[in-house]
Amino acid sequence: MLGAAAAAAVLLVPRGGAPATQAPVGASSDGYAVWARNADGTPVRWDPCSPIVIVASEVGSPDGYALEALTTDLEQAASVLAEASGLDLDVVGSSDEAPGAGRSTLAAGDRSRWAPILVGWHRPGHGSLPLRDVDRGVAVPVAVGSPGERVYVTGQIALNPDRTDLVPGFDDRATSWGSTVTHELAHVLGLAHVDDPAQLLHTYPGAGPVVLGGGDRAGLRAVGADLDCLDVPEPVELDVAVPTR
Ligand SMILES: [Zn+2]
Repeated sequence: MLGAAAAAAVLLVPRGGAPATQAPVGASSDGYAVWARNADGTPVRWDPCSPIVIVASEVGSPDGYALEALTTDLEQAASVLAEASGLDLDVVGSSDEAPGAGRSTLAAGDRSRWAPILVGWHRPGHGSLPLRDVDRGVAVPVAVGSPGERVYVTGQIALNPDRTDLVPGFDDRATSWGSTVTHELAHVLGLAHVDDPAQLLHTYPGAGPVVLGGGDRAGLRAVGADLDCLDVPEPVELDVAVPTR
């Protein structure tokens, strides 16, 4: 059924490394869940003392959702999530990359930096990411560091251009790309699905206003800027495991 699955996220870790512990859906009593926790029990998160850089791509975009429209929705989503988390989320421009499991972990234009978060298009069954026909998108954050002390450094959001039932903007959870990119970007920040339909991080989008729920906000604080700075490993080219579902 179109409209069913919103998205999934798959945590990528370097091939050969021990996977971070995956928290089960709905595990938190505070209305949120995280993808992974470190050895001390804290959520795997981004360094709150560095900007989190995001680029958008129009490669393979559907009719009616050009780069400008995606960028507008992404900027709004980043603003909402930045306000709730305190993180510095910067949509800096466009990229001619397409999402894929083989994407470099280094920035295309400056290999001394981790790659920015790429938001782009990926047809189900036509590439290397585990996107299904019913999915609106899939988020693939990448965590690096020693097991038990991981930090997110890059990631991708692959949107499904075959979901032509969705429209630009934030009119409603049921129909909007804006709701979708907000949900996916929250995944990249470290949040997993919950069972509560009042949250944007519910597995299924439902219908209603595109607003964060109390659990979403608690989760964003738990991975947000109130926490200490993290040591970010030096950028390197990593062979990340191909995600499966
Ligand atoms: Zn999701």
